[in-house]
Amino acid sequence: MKGMHHPLGAIETRIRVAAGARAIALVAVSKLQPASAVRELACLGQRRFGENYVQEALHKQAELADLDIEWHLIGPLQSNKCGDAARHFDWVQSVDRAKLVPLLARERPIERAPLNVLIQVNIGDETSKSGCAPAAVSTLATLISAEPRLCLRGLMAIPAPWPDPDQRRADFARMQQLFEEIRARYPTADTLSMGMSDDFELAIREGATMVRIGSALFGSRTARPHSV
Ligand SMILES: *Cc1c(COP(=O)(O)O)cnc(C)c1O
Repeated sequence: MKGMHHPLGAIETRIRVAAGARAIALVAVSKLQPASAVRELACLGQRRFGENYVQEALHKQAELADLDIEWHLIGPLQSNKCGDAARHFDWVQSVDRAKLVPLLARERPIERAPLNVLIQVNIGDETSKSGCAPAAVSTLATLISAEPRLCLRGLMAIPAPWPDPDQRRADFARMQQLFEEIRARYPTADTLSMGMSDDFELAIREGATMVRIGSALFGSRTARPHSV
């Protein structure tokens, strides 16, 4: 049963309205939130959580080991963190260069299912260093799909923070087009991860199948309304 005062229920309703008949996966972004806030949301039925920083996530995972949580790494990935990422997450959404692919594959424990991987695309944000160029997606997809310990699930993007919704919409639409090309080539690619607290309804209308929502669920990351 959903808590009356937790925003989760209202967010789920807004997702359903924007999605119509389509199913949308909600990743609750818990970076800089205490483990207690994750536990509270997990007890309301939320199962997917996204973390940006590997070390912070490992601490929370240890505290929450009794819960059945699907962990998504959504922050920039350094090559020296690939081992921890491959061992302790179910999904890595931020694969944006070829070098990371064999490192993740090599470190994925054999007793676990293949690691779910999204290619992070830099869709027109010149200020961001994360994400590969749209023209590099095809090569990365070929590399990932050749690794039996990895499963190519699709694409992820953080569009530029355009104040103009039409420009954001154009970025989302370009992602949707790239995603359709990948989906046509790889049957395992079923996920387009885009849309955050400020723009998830727009992202869903432009084809997102997964949204990543932090502040709208947890409150501001500095105020920490659910702190321990
Ligand atoms: C922080 C973060 C989010 C969530 O952002 P909100 O605006 O708080 O919803 C989503 N995706 C990524 C990659 C993030 O770093």
